[in-house]
Formats: sequence, structure tokens, C-alpha cells
Amino acid sequence: MRIVLLGPPGAGKGTQAQRIVDKFSIPHLSTGDMLRAAVHAGTDIGRKAKEIMAEGKLVSDHLVVAAVIERIAQPDSKRGFVLDGFPRTIGQAVAFDELLHRDAVDLDRVVELMADEDILLDRIETRAQEAKARGHTARADDNHEALKVRLDAYNEQTAPLVEYYRAKGVLRSIDGLQAVDAVTHDVFHAIEGLMP
Ligand code: ADP
Repeated sequence: MRIVLLGPPGAGKGTQAQRIVDKFSIPHLSTGDMLRAAVHAGTDIGRKAKEIMAEGKLVSDHLVVAAVIERIAQPDSKRGFVLDGFPRTIGQAVAFDELLHRDAVDLDRVVELMADEDILLDRIETRAQEAKARGHTARADDNHEALKVRLDAYNEQTAPLVEYYRAKGVLRSIDGLQAVDAVTHDVFHAIEGLMP
């Protein structure tokens, strides 16, 4: 099962991805996590991505696509994966389709988590405060200014993917503002029947 979770920052993609992983034992591929790991490790990609990410802007398509290509080639991705945070632009979606078609496979489902912007701002600010309260440092981009940039980037560059995938017949849209378990119920319903 090849699944993409689509939705604005703070919509709960990471939480729902983890539940899919637990139930179906497929890997969770988060480009945000991959890039943060690259920044932490100080790799070439990490050095290029660091500032851009802290500002809340999108890293260039070719860097992200390169990271995904490398990850998808690993044996654990053969049975499927749940992608979170990728594709984020039409360019990435087209490059990704080409990559999958080379292996004669396709995306099975794109699950959109819909959420209202004001609530997202609250959620992310709470996430940053909770991280600090636990003695962790908040993500460099979990602050009001960067968040606005992330939401703008979502609306301008990522939201058009909803129509892109609807036209392919793989899109399912879910109310992401329900309680976490209710969202999970709808996510599982949306991917029902796909073989892991
Ligand atoms: P969010 O909570 O905003 O969805 P992510 O952890 O998915 O956060 O991503 C954090 C940052 O990493 C993004 O704001 C962006 O700078 C970079 N990033 C992650 N995925 C991509 C991608 N597919 N294309 C470009 N930039 C990306």
C-alpha cells in the first residue's frame, strides 16, 4: 500500500502516520524528519536546507526528491509506505509519479486531513510550549512568524495537489479537526481494502 498523507502543518499527519505504521507495519517516510536529520548530521543536504526550513519556506524540489528516491529504494519500502510531507509541490508530485511508474507501480491513496487555519496556529503554538515544558527545544520553525510562512507555502504550493490527486481518483478527504481516534477511524476507512 502506497499512501500519501496531505494536509497543512499541524493537521496531525505525523500522528496518523504512526497509527498506520503500527497497524500495517509499513515504514513512515517523513521528509520533514529526513531533512531535520540531515541538518542535525550536517550533511550537504542539511547545510542547504537549514536556513530555509527555519524560515518556514520550502526546500527546493530536487533536494527533497533526491532524499525520497534514496529512501524509497530501501528494501523496507517495497511492500509500501506512508509518506508525510511529500509531495508538497506539483513539481514533486510529477517527479514522484515518474519515479513510481519506472517500477510499474502507482500511489494507491492520498488522504487529505482538512483543518481550519486558526486552529492550526493554536495547535502548533501549544506543541512548541509543551516541548519547552518537557525541557526539549521547540522546532526551529514552530514559532508564529515561520508558521505563517508555512501556512502560506501550503496554500500556494501544496493545496493544488488536492485537485491533482482528485483528478487521478485516489483522493479521500477527512475532517482533521475531530478527536484523534475519530480521525484514525476515518483514515483506516479511507485505506480499507488496500493490501499491505
Ligand atoms: P509541517 O509540520 O510544517 O508539515 P514538516 O516536518 O513536514 O512540517 O516540514 C518542515 C519543513 O521541512 C518545511 O517547512 C520545509 O522547509 C521542509 N520540507 C519538508 N518536506 C518538504 C518537501 N516535500 N518539499 C520542500 N520542503 C520540505
